[in-house]
Amino acid sequence: MSLLVVGSVAFDALESPYGKVDRTLGGAATYFSVAASFFTHVNLVAVVGDDFKSFFWAGKYSENLNERITLATELNVFADFKPRLPEKYRASKYVFLANIAPGLQHDVLKQVTKRPKIAALDTMNYWIERTNEDLRETLRHVDILMINDIETRQLSNEHNLLRAARHIFKMGPSTLVVKRGEYGAMMVDARGVFCVPAFPLEEPHDPTGAGDCFAGGFMGYLASAGNKSDGSLRRAMVYGSVLGSFCVEKFGLERLRTLKRNEIHARARHFAKLTQFKL
Ligand code: AMP
Repeated sequence: MSLLVVGSVAFDALESPYGKVDRTLGGAATYFSVAASFFTHVNLVAVVGDDFKSFFWAGKYSENLNERITLATELNVFADFKPRLPEKYRASKYVFLANIAPGLQHDVLKQVTKRPKIAALDTMNYWIERTNEDLRETLRHVDILMINDIETRQLSNEHNLLRAARHIFKMGPSTLVVKRGEYGAMMVDARGVFCVPAFPLEEPHDPTGAGDCFAGGFMGYLASAGNKSDGSLRRAMVYGSVLGSFCVEKFGLERLRTLKRNEIHARARHFAKLTQFKL
């Protein structure tokens, strides 16, 4: 099954109470691709400069890792990137528009020849504030919106997440997946609500990329399942949480480099145990 992603491939500077790195490979599309690659082949569309003078982002986390401030966002080569999809990417059935300028996300989607089985989109405050109209236009063509709770509230102007979902459905997407950090993730669609917890970890080190790894696990699983039944979407939520939880165990992409498929499946079984109960 073909999974296409467009988004940032970046140099990141990261700082958390557990350490600091100056320039490490990051970017939403990078995290997404690595996470999804455990389930399926991934086609990545992004840009890096000749000298890898790519997108640069710097962020710093608070003591409890729950808050993050952005210290720098430099678009560099992304500022005038005009993506042109290779012929064989145009028939992609699963498309993920990772966090990047909504205009670019739309450009890519328009080049996909047949309406994909699932087109999902992530975004963030940076784009909600600066390019709201482009974002609204792009959202009209998307099935799943996958953002965090703060972004959900910002985009919908609703504090309550269920009310926010109803508002967002009017913008285009029929499914909303809200990433809630250490509180897990929630999926809302016409069938109802499904929640997964975050995997309890004693020592998370760096939350960077957790949301993108969640999306990678989610879309990677769906592409490998080949359908969007309620059961598949629920399992996708669990595999998303599994990949997000591995990501935060170490800095940047470090943990994913050594991750094995059997560890992923073992943690998914652990999730089932975590949430199982009888009435
Ligand atoms: P997350 O922690 O899931 O929000 O993702 C962090 C990644 O997103 C980092 O590797 C950054 O390079 C990338 N990123 C941060 N800000 C932006 C932005 N405005 N556009 C695209 N990618 C971004």
